[in-house]
Amino acid sequence: FLFPKGPATFKPKVQGNGANRNTKSSDQLKILKQRHALPIFPARPRLLKELKKNDVVIVIGETGSGKTTQIPQYLHEERLDRKGAICVTQPRRVAAITIAKRVAEEMDTNLGELVGYSVRFEESVSPSTKLKYMTDGMLLREAISDPLLSKYSWVIVDEAHERTVSTDVLFGIIKDAQKSRKAFAKYPLRVIIMSATMDVDHFSNYFNKCPVLYIEGRQHPIEMFYAREKQEDYVLAAMSTVIQIHKEAPPQHDILVFLTGQEEIDAVVHNIRLIAKDNSLAEFPKIRVHALYAALPAHQQLDVFRATAAGERKVIISTNIAETSITIPGVRYVVDSGRAKVRNYLPGSGFDVLKVKKISQAQAWQRTGRAGRETSGFCYRAYTLEEFNAMAVNPVPEILRSNMSSVILQLLAMGIKNILTFDFIDKPSTEYVQQAVEQLTLLDAAKVVKSDMLELTETGKKMAQFPLDPRYAKILLSGPDYGCTDEVLTIVAILSSESIYTNPSGKKEAAVNARRKFSSMWCHENFLNYRNLSYTVEVRKQLVQVCQRCGISIVSCQQNLDSVRRCIIAGLFTNVAELQLGGKYLTLDSRQEAALHPASVLFGGKPAYVLFTELVHTGKTYMHINSAVDAQWLFETAPEYFRKRHIKI
Ligand code: ADP
Ligand code: MG
Repeated sequence: FLFPKGPATFKPKVQGNGANRNTKSSDQLKILKQRHALPIFPARPRLLKELKKNDVVIVIGETGSGKTTQIPQYLHEERLDRKGAICVTQPRRVAAITIAKRVAEEMDTNLGELVGYSVRFEESVSPSTKLKYMTDGMLLREAISDPLLSKYSWVIVDEAHERTVSTDVLFGIIKDAQKSRKAFAKYPLRVIIMSATMDVDHFSNYFNKCPVLYIEGRQHPIEMFYAREKQEDYVLAAMSTVIQIHKEAPPQHDILVFLTGQEEIDAVVHNIRLIAKDNSLAEFPKIRVHALYAALPAHQQLDVFRATAAGERKVIISTNIAETSITIPGVRYVVDSGRAKVRNYLPGSGFDVLKVKKISQAQAWQRTGRAGRETSGFCYRAYTLEEFNAMAVNPVPEILRSNMSSVILQLLAMGIKNILTFDFIDKPSTEYVQQAVEQLTLLDAAKVVKSDMLELTETGKKMAQFPLDPRYAKILLSGPDYGCTDEVLTIVAILSSESIYTNPSGKKEAAVNARRKFSSMWCHENFLNYRNLSYTVEVRKQLVQVCQRCGISIVSCQQNLDSVRRCIIAGLFTNVAELQLGGKYLTLDSRQEAALHPASVLFGGKPAYVLFTELVHTGKTYMHINSAVDAQWLFETAPEYFRKRHIKI
């Protein structure tokens, strides 16, 4: 076994009374009792007093103390939302949805009435909504048309420590809105910044030395186990730990496993299902295995929250999506691979690379905390204590490692012309900003008006309307020029919802072959994920609406696929690689080596120029989702860009 006996125990400061167990009851009295048993409840008067007194308050409290579900309700109970609604932002859509559901239940109302949610491509709100849970990205979108955030009297930025790009930008927008609202609005904007762990001084300084309130937590004790020695293969280590726990733990003690990405998770889900069928495990509880990652549609993510039946065990294999915010009933075991797939901007290019990296200590503790939400639990770290100590204390804010073009497009749409002087809590590097500005200029979205001052073009204004990467928005806008809006709408919808494919591990080859001869055959036979396809259809519908709003005519090229590929180049011309004499590909932007994936239809064909949507680093750097393109087209679409890069026509 990977882990030695005699573990250390992670004891939180305050221990719980275990009163709050799984709650799935319509009994309001029971819910009220639970609410009153939460650690935040005794702090209610003190909390409200501070919130009424200050423009900005930071609230720190361990996970499970009741910040996210209770504070908005307290504000509502005191009628502090009379003049404007309460908005609570979450970095993740699944959190926004499940929390809104829970709060609606607690308040005994239908979701979408008093309590609602809004996430990209999906929302449930009405004019009477007073408590609105939304992703930080959605609030940013709202700020484009309403920079004063005038619908809201309270904005609560939750999980602020995650430091997503959207959260970081929101900080600046909120500060600005607050200032303006003080000057000329009917009612002020109040702000609450919440988290379980964060660099409090840094945040407080940024918000003019605002006060910090601490809520004592009620996390249950968690026994900690570290790997005996360094593990070569974290996936294997995580999987064998799951099987080991499964053999030892009683049923209904569910297991949450943190791994890195969709493909890896699908494979592990498949393998655990296979192993579970083995006769040697017949005497142990039945296992129900779930995958959990962002690209899954919401309803599939919600499956994970279904409680386990008697004699059953739930095993959830998740990305860092389950790291914060959410409560998955039944989880008592956490297995942490210590890794996450993170987006990293590739300097000198216009794109991000997805790469598996070690997590930070703060993230590791968050993961551990998932085991102690309802009662005491266990956390198995598939890495050694030495490895843990060598991890960075906090994660690097996303804004310091991302392609900035999307953010800058949004800032420009909000009328912020000088990106370099925007009040970021941590300034992104000038180099990254300049590269993003260059990309937006190349896409004809923005132009420089004075030194450092930017302005959106007409195209750019339209691009900002789409909840998409600017490059994808540009593809849609170019649809009419190439007579293929209809086709590219479908393609962009698929690119925005990902994973319409299923990848059963044992049948990889069959899946690849099935997709090679795409036909009208049924999804199942072709390893297509029906649910995700339906989601894609939904996304497409919404993109059609934005197109109609922007006056983009929806025309079809009737199978003329050359026009489709040309149109795609209009948005993605910075993502092109060129075949070299030795048979390798180099990206034209940063001359970095990138390979065609064996599963690509282009593999083996080796076209001279290949367009890709992103680079994925798994051992080797692969180009993800490709299309062969003609050098002549490249040159016609972005002559200035390609002239500098000496492509061979
Ligand atoms: P915090 O934001 O401080 O981490 P929350 O407000 O999210 O805490 O949750 C407080 C408590 O409410 C949790 O510990 C859990 O017991 C309960 N709870 C929250 N969401 C759910 C849910 N979807 N189902 C059952 N219980 C929940
Ligand atoms: Mg929370």
